[in-house]
Amino acid sequence: MSYADLAKEANQYSNVLSEIRRELHQIPEFGLQTPNTLARVLESLHGLGEITLGTSITSAVLHIKGGQPGPTVLLRADMDALAVVEDTGLDFASTNGFMHACGHDLHMAIGIGAAHLIATHKDELKGDVIIWFQPGEEGHGGADVMLEENMHLVTGQMPIAAFGIHVFSSYPKGLFGSRVGPLMAAAGGMTVTFKGAGGHGSMPWLSKDPISPMAEAMSALQTMVNKRFSAFDPVVINIGWVKAGDDHTENVIPEIASFGATIRTFSVENTEKIKRYSIELLEGIAKAHGVEVEIKFLPSTKVLMNDEESIKRVERVINEAFGPGRYWNMPDPIAGGEDFASVVDVIPGAFVFMGACPEGIDPATASTNHSNKALFDDSILADGSALLASLAFDVLK
Ligand SMILES: [Zn+2]
Repeated sequence: MSYADLAKEANQYSNVLSEIRRELHQIPEFGLQTPNTLARVLESLHGLGEITLGTSITSAVLHIKGGQPGPTVLLRADMDALAVVEDTGLDFASTNGFMHACGHDLHMAIGIGAAHLIATHKDELKGDVIIWFQPGEEGHGGADVMLEENMHLVTGQMPIAAFGIHVFSSYPKGLFGSRVGPLMAAAGGMTVTFKGAGGHGSMPWLSKDPISPMAEAMSALQTMVNKRFSAFDPVVINIGWVKAGDDHTENVIPEIASFGATIRTFSVENTEKIKRYSIELLEGIAKAHGVEVEIKFLPSTKVLMNDEESIKRVERVINEAFGPGRYWNMPDPIAGGEDFASVVDVIPGAFVFMGACPEGIDPATASTNHSNKALFDDSILADGSALLASLAFDVLK
């Protein structure tokens, strides 16, 4: 069976995959508990293989045994939605206050399509395929929970390759994009609280003002990015909130001043360095002002590192399945984070972006993922399914 044949075969599922995607689009669920979504997915996996359910979250793994023994390949689809009120005007728009604004409804349909293609041809597989249906991608660490629950080991062996697809509403329809090495940032954050001593605004020398060191820290952190990190291995720090005092009182020195920042890094080295340097800097400023500082780092995703061999495989399989011109070797990573990074940290693999900008909309001005107006063209589902299935066959041939 050639990958071009598999792509043709996938086209037969196109309409049913769109229907499934639109059903899932109307029942979006948030975070690590997505029971109705999982139930709908399981309905479409019936009879394809053995299902293992997660214990603490609503995850599932489908295990398709190949005709001959061999290693295991992991494929992954995520399932959770965002707390976004949909404003697309689609006739299948969600109305429950959540929205599949990141296209995870398409990822589930792609996973289901791949499962059918693989199950149909399982006799040709020299090994097993496991397909993850994972909740809690959007900052909830669902992939990490599934790893902790050993959901990658359901065949009894460590998978030798892992692949996932992510759709984008603002990339040209049908175009696959990825790159060797870092594809997505380590996305984390920190909260910083300066503790001084409150008092009367007319006599600051009798108190310990926490606002001045905070202001200094906010500016110094952003200078630090420029002075202590290479311009060729970027770091992003952006302060998203600031709190101090009361907006009705000008003559009071508050006891506490705090802010929160998002942090993005693209190398393991910088992910570690940014913590160390931030602590040094913030503690130094606090000391200089005679106040205390408390620094809390929020859980961070890992840098999503694509394995070189896996990306070569992705490019070749795309060419064989869909012809030339469908693979885009991305010059730069993107600054978004993704918990599939934890999977490819322990299993060599690749994450691949797929354009889903609808016909008639200019990708340059299309509403992006996470927008309440994001639109995804679900005619791409067959090709997405064919790619995931072909990658599994390519590893296990
Ligand atoms: Zn996403």
